[in-house]
Amino acid sequence: MSFEPICKPSGPASVPPNLVNYESARASFSWDAARRELDGLPDGAGLNIAHEAVERHATGRRRDHIALRWLGRKGSQRDITYAEFGELTSRFANGLAELGVKAGDAVYVLAGRIPELYVTALGALKHRCVFCPLFSAFGPEPIRSRLSIGQGRVLVTTEALYQRKVAPIRDSLPHLEHVLIVAETDPPSAVPGTHDFGRLLAGVPDRYQISPTRPEDPALLHFTSGTTGTPKGAMHVHEAVVAHHTTGKLALDLHPDDIFWCTADPGWVTGTSYGIIAPLTNGVTSIIDEGDFDAERWYRVIEQQRVNVWYSAPTAIRLMMKLGEDVVRQHDLSSLRFLASVGEPLNPEAVVWSHRAFGTPFHDNWWQTETGGIMIANFASMEVRPGSMGRPLPGIDAAIVRRAASGAIEVIQDDESGELALRPGWPSMFRGYFGQPERYASCFADGWYLTGDLARRDPDGYFWFVGRKDDVIKTSGHLIGPFEVESILLEHRAVAEAGVIGKPDPQAYEIVKAFVALKADFAPTDELRRELLGFARTRLGAAVAPKEIEFVPKLPKTRSGKIMRRLLKARELGLPEGDISTLEEN
Ligand code: ATP
Ligand code: MG
Repeated sequence: MSFEPICKPSGPASVPPNLVNYESARASFSWDAARRELDGLPDGAGLNIAHEAVERHATGRRRDHIALRWLGRKGSQRDITYAEFGELTSRFANGLAELGVKAGDAVYVLAGRIPELYVTALGALKHRCVFCPLFSAFGPEPIRSRLSIGQGRVLVTTEALYQRKVAPIRDSLPHLEHVLIVAETDPPSAVPGTHDFGRLLAGVPDRYQISPTRPEDPALLHFTSGTTGTPKGAMHVHEAVVAHHTTGKLALDLHPDDIFWCTADPGWVTGTSYGIIAPLTNGVTSIIDEGDFDAERWYRVIEQQRVNVWYSAPTAIRLMMKLGEDVVRQHDLSSLRFLASVGEPLNPEAVVWSHRAFGTPFHDNWWQTETGGIMIANFASMEVRPGSMGRPLPGIDAAIVRRAASGAIEVIQDDESGELALRPGWPSMFRGYFGQPERYASCFADGWYLTGDLARRDPDGYFWFVGRKDDVIKTSGHLIGPFEVESILLEHRAVAEAGVIGKPDPQAYEIVKAFVALKADFAPTDELRRELLGFARTRLGAAVAPKEIEFVPKLPKTRSGKIMRRLLKARELGLPEGDISTLEEN
C-alpha cells in the first residue's frame, strides 16, 4: 500500500496524551484498577452508570462545569451544568417513580437530539430502568418492532413524532403504559393518552437517592444497525460504565477541560456510549448539535465552540472530502487536538486527507453494538498506519482465528486473514440478544467471542479490517475483502463512494463487482468506467480488481451511514431485500 505511517506531533505540550506508552499501559492495566477510578454508589451500594456520569460530579468539584452545551437547529444555545443535570435527571427518576415505573422496566426515547433525551437516559438509569434509544427517523414499523421486542413500558417523545409515528401503532403495544410528550408549544397541547414531560418533572423533587444497583443489573438495550440482517437487541449492564469511562480516556484521550463532540446520533450505540456516557463520566463538556450533517455547519460549530476532541464516522469524512480542503481553510479549527472515527472501514485516503486538512488525522477505531465500547484503536501517542484500525485497548485480548476441521478455534499467523475474535470478560460486553438466546450462544466458541468481522494482524500488532464475514468475496480460489477494493477505488479522483460485492459466476464462483458513485464534476461514461477498471487492475492485480463497475447516483446505506452490501447484492440478483428498516431514505 502506498500510504506511509503518520507520525504526528502529540498535540500541545500542555496536554500530554492519557496513554503515553502503549506497551506499558497494556502491561500494567487491570479492569479492577479501572473500576477503582470510578466512585461506586455511596456506602458500597454498588455501581450505577448515572451516579458515575452525573451524580458524583453534580455533588462534587465539577458541579458548576458545563456538562452539555446544546446547540439548537436554528441557532439557540442552552448550557446545562453538572449540578443542573443532576437535578433534571433526579426529577425524571422521581417522575418515573410517581408513575409506578419499577427498576428493570424499559424506558424508550424517540426524539431528535434535544436536551430531554439526555435527561431521559440518565434519569431512567438513576431509577434503574433499562434505557433504549430509538432513531428519530424510524417509521412506525421499526418503532413498533423494537418497542415490542424490548417490552417498552415508557416512551418519551415529541408531540409531532407521537402523532405521526406512535399513535397509529399504539394499540398494538400492550406493554406501553406511559407516553411522555416533550411539548413543542407553550402552553403544551393536551394529547389524549399521554403525560406532559415538563409538567411531570415540575411536580416532583429535584433530589433522588439511587437505590442499590448491582454491576450486573441491566441498563441499556441497543439495537444493531441492521447492516447484515434483521437488527438484534443487545443487552448491556451497569458495569459497562467502567469500559465507557476507560475507553473515553484512553482511546478518545478525553481530558477534564475538553470540549468534546461526538457527531453520532444517540439512536445508535456510539451516540450513547460516547455521545452521552463516556464524556460525562470523564467530566468534560459535550456538544450536542440538534442540526443534521452539513460540513460547513460542522466547521462553524468546531470553530465557535473550540472543540478539542471530535468523534465522527467515515461517511461524514468522505462527504467532507468531497467538499474539499478550501472550505476547511475558511475556518479556524486550531482548537482540534484529537480526531477519531468509527462505524465503517476508514479508507487510507481519508486518513491522509484529514491529516492534510485538519493538521491531525482521523484515528480509526473499531467496535460493535455488542462490545459496548471501543476495542481496537489508533491512540493519540502512536503512529497512525492509514487503513489500520489500530491496536487492542489495554484490557482487551484480540486475535485472528479460524475454525479448524475438528471444530476447534485456532489463532492464526500474522498477516493472514481470518475472523476477528475477542476474549470475553471486559465490562461492556453484551449480556445477551434480547429474546434470542441461541443466537447469543452461537457467538461464542472455545472461550472466544467471534465478531463476524474478518481482519488481519500485522507483526507489530496493528489490526487491518478485511470485511464482514457475510460480505467476503470468493473468486477463483481467492478470498477478497470488499474494503481493500473499495479503498483503491476511492483513491481515484472521480470516485466519491464505492461498494463492492461478489456476483455469482459459473467459472470463478464469484466475480468482484463494484458500484461506484461519482463526485459532482464527473459523468458516468464508458471511458471513465474503462479508466477505473484499468486503475484498479494496475493497483490490485487482475485477480482482485473488479471485473464489472456499475455507476450509481448513491449507495444504499443504513441510517447510521454504513454501506448495505447485502442490499446491493440482493438487488443485483433480483432477490428479496430482507429487513430494510434501517435503510436511509433516498
Ligand atoms: P448488524 O449487526 O445488524 O448487521 P452492524 O454490525 O452494522 O449491524 P453495529 O454494531 O452498529 O451494527 O456495527 C458494528 C460493525 O461495524 C462492526 O462489526 C464492523 O463490521 C463495522 N465497523 C465498526 N467500526 C469499524 C471500523 N473501524 N472499521 C471497519 N468496520 C467497522
Ligand atoms: Mg453486527
